[in-house]
Amino acid sequence: MRLTATDLKQKALTKGNWTLNEKGGITFFTSPLLSQIDSLTHAFTTRVGGTSPEPLEWFNLGRHWNTEESRLDASANRIRLCEALSLNFSRLVVPGQVHSAHTAWISKPTHLPDVDGVATVERDLPILLHYADCVPIIIFEQHLQAVCVVHAGWRGTAAGIVRGAVRLLQQEISAKPELMVAAIGPAIGDCCYQVGDDVSRQLGASVNDSEGLIRFENEIPHPDLQAINAMQLLEAGVSEIDVSSHCTACHPDLFYSHRHSAGQTGRQGAIAGLKLNK
Ligand SMILES: [Zn+2]
Repeated sequence: MRLTATDLKQKALTKGNWTLNEKGGITFFTSPLLSQIDSLTHAFTTRVGGTSPEPLEWFNLGRHWNTEESRLDASANRIRLCEALSLNFSRLVVPGQVHSAHTAWISKPTHLPDVDGVATVERDLPILLHYADCVPIIIFEQHLQAVCVVHAGWRGTAAGIVRGAVRLLQQEISAKPELMVAAIGPAIGDCCYQVGDDVSRQLGASVNDSEGLIRFENEIPHPDLQAINAMQLLEAGVSEIDVSSHCTACHPDLFYSHRHSAGQTGRQGAIAGLKLNK
């Protein structure tokens, strides 16, 4: 059944209260929708559970400072995360993330300095991207068992990175959007995110119908980046979307937030991997 424009809008704006999990001392959210998939391991991490020093406390997964100590600390946290989720750290792929609209298709561990999305059908090839307000997205194709993790800041969102990711899965493995599901993790909400008119215009132009996805408060645009990405996925034909209701800037005890900390902060992660044995 074809959904009407109103149905799509309602779906894009619907958010759910996700489960907070604890495993191996690490605290992370899981999407109820993706949790139903036996062959997939996934997590949206929080800042809780590690020993990263200030201002990166406590479970920083990003290479924030260009020092050996910071690199080792992020690396130790990535190892702990993989261990807690039974994912293979030696094959973990962490792309460079440059706020681009590029998603790479991979079949083995690959160095990817300048992409913001990674997709694969390989088992035992976990993918990690990191965030502090930007939108973490995991897409899964149910028939061909492909997974894709995307980083969408406002630039990536305006450039339609998730739409490009869906197209990549179509091109590489003839995946069908209607067999895809997606989870959109904790990100900065429209409660805490103000932008200028130019950014607002670019974000609005990234979907066919942006009404209601950008809220105006005293004439200042407050875009809902999660909803705009959800709308792009729905317009591309993705069947089910699961969106977290958590705003990263509203919960500084739980999440790293670029806006809340004026840029001096760590990174939480979105990680996903296809299990070795289904
Ligand atoms: Zn907020």
